[in-house]
Order: sequence, then C-alpha cells, then structure tokens
Amino acid sequence: MDVYGLIGNPVEHSLSPPMHEAGYEALGIDARYVTFEPEADAAAAAVAGAADLGVAGLNVTVPFKRDVLDAVDAAPLADRIGAVNTIDFGPVRAGDHPRGHNTDAAGVKRAFSHHGVALEGRDAVVVGAGGAGRAAAFALADAGAAVHVANRTAERAVDLAEAVPGATGGGLGDLGDRVAGADVLVNATSVGMDEPEATPVPAAHLHGDLAVLDAVYAPIETRLLREAADAGATTVDGAWMLLFQGVEAFEIWTGREAPVDAMNAALRAELK
Ligand code: NAP
Repeated sequence: MDVYGLIGNPVEHSLSPPMHEAGYEALGIDARYVTFEPEADAAAAAVAGAADLGVAGLNVTVPFKRDVLDAVDAAPLADRIGAVNTIDFGPVRAGDHPRGHNTDAAGVKRAFSHHGVALEGRDAVVVGAGGAGRAAAFALADAGAAVHVANRTAERAVDLAEAVPGATGGGLGDLGDRVAGADVLVNATSVGMDEPEATPVPAAHLHGDLAVLDAVYAPIETRLLREAADAGATTVDGAWMLLFQGVEAFEIWTGREAPVDAMNAALRAELK
C-alpha cells in the first residue's frame, strides 16, 4: 500500500483525504492519504522523515509552503512562485532532494480550462498578493495572459508584479476600472470567507465578458460569484481550483489520469 499525505498546521478540517481517497478507489489503487501536523519550525524535518518512512507523496499547506523549499528540488514554476504544495518522493536517487511542485498554479489554469475559458492574450486582474495570488499571477502569465495584480497592501502587488513576466501591480484604488476593462478576474484574497456578505469587487464593475474565479471555497457560492453571475459573467468557484490542484498532484504521484468526476463528487460532498 502507498501512503500519501498532507503536512500543515492546522490540517484537521482538510478536504484532501476524502478527495484523494475517492481517486484511489475509482482507479483501484491500493493507497491511503493521511494528515500530519508538524511543529512550526519542523517542516524540513517532516519532509526528510516522510522520505525515510517511504511516504510516496506529500501535499503541503499553510504555513509550510515556503518552508519546504530548502528540502526539495523545486520545479521551475514552483521555484518562481516561491512556494511548494506538492512533493513527489519517487524515484529519488540517493542524496537527492525529492521534487517539489506548485499545483495551485495548475489548479487555476485547469479550473479555467475546464470551464472553457481561454487565457492566452486575455487581460487578467488578480486581486490579492498572498500565496494564492502569487500562484494565480504566475499561472495566468504562464498561460499567456497579461496580468495586473491589485492588493490592499500595494507594495506587495508591486513586488509580485516585478517577478511575473509582463505584469503590473498596484493598490485597490483603480480596481473598478481595471476590472471593467478585463476579460479574467481572480479573487485571491480571503474576502468573502469569514464574512460571506463581503466582496472584493463591487458589483458595479462586473460585466458579462468576464470570467471570474474566486479562490474562496467556503462558502462555495460567494457574493462575488453571485453578483458576477447576475452580470452575465462566467463563474468558477474555488472548489474547482482546489479540485484541480489535487488532480494535478494525483497525476504527478501516480502517473495516471485522475478520475476527476469521482474526486469532484467527494470534494463537493464534503463542502455541502
Ligand atoms: P494569504 O497569503 O494570507 O493572503 C491573503 C490575501 O488577502 C492578501 O493579499 C491580503 O492583502 C488579502 N486580504 C485579506 N483581508 C483583506 C481585506 N479585508 N481586504 C482586502 N484584502 C484582504 O492567504 P492565501 O493563502 O493567499 O489565501 C487567500 C484565499 O485563497 C483564502 O480564502 C484561501 O482559503 C484561498 N485559497 C484557495 C485555494 C483553492 O485551492 N481554492 C488555494 C489557496 C488559497 P494584504 O497583503 O494587504 O494583507
């Protein structure tokens, strides 16, 4: 039996175990997916320990996505994003670090693609410059979009934009105008999560030519997505991003095409 898992703190409410185990069951793979909660400064030790124990793959979540960088051989996109959320332990040659990936970026790209949204040559606005914002900005630029990053703390957006090819960055002051002229919008802030009636982009700026991905997945239907749908926009909820980051990790680990429908059904059953 193969063992996969997640390190983070806290991880007790993680949706990854049922999502991945539904995938193993659908393909008849003999594997389990378990969660681990290392101490705050123990991420690298946890990765080394997992390798020693024969763990086949690890997901990494808050607060360890940057901490594990020194313990892995980061793939180019993960290296540029500066965060790893998926570690593949095999096959690792003696003395080598396991391979580290960032599948949050793939989650953004594949969530749009699944909804028929083309990104190449489109104008995209990413609101937020934290972990999800970094992944989204690099993903969209990688897919050929022209990216503007808008963030409450403008300096963080400017710093991020300097690292993302062709991107611009700034505060929230001109967000309305930016969104009015955009084809693609990603909310990568936590606005709308703890206060469901809050929204990062006022309804007046939303329009029917937009495709909107909200990284927030609890609640699944945020106010932003409700108002975007009312404006005629294509909407992509945060569970799709969560699903496809998991699907990408599943495929890296197993080398097989993931059973997307089974994993999606398990995820959405948990989110209900
Ligand atoms: P993070 O690194 O802590 O970044 C938080 C971001 O939200 C920052 O840009 C912050 O701006 C902004 N923000 C927070 N409160 C705000 C407010 N009241 N008004 C305006 N901006 C505000 O968090 P993260 O890991 O990027 O996660 C962000 C969200 O994405 C969370 O809801 C998380 O659950 C979700 N997420 C979803 C997925 C998925 O697969 N669907 C994956 C990762 C994250 P400042 O820089 O100004 O503080």
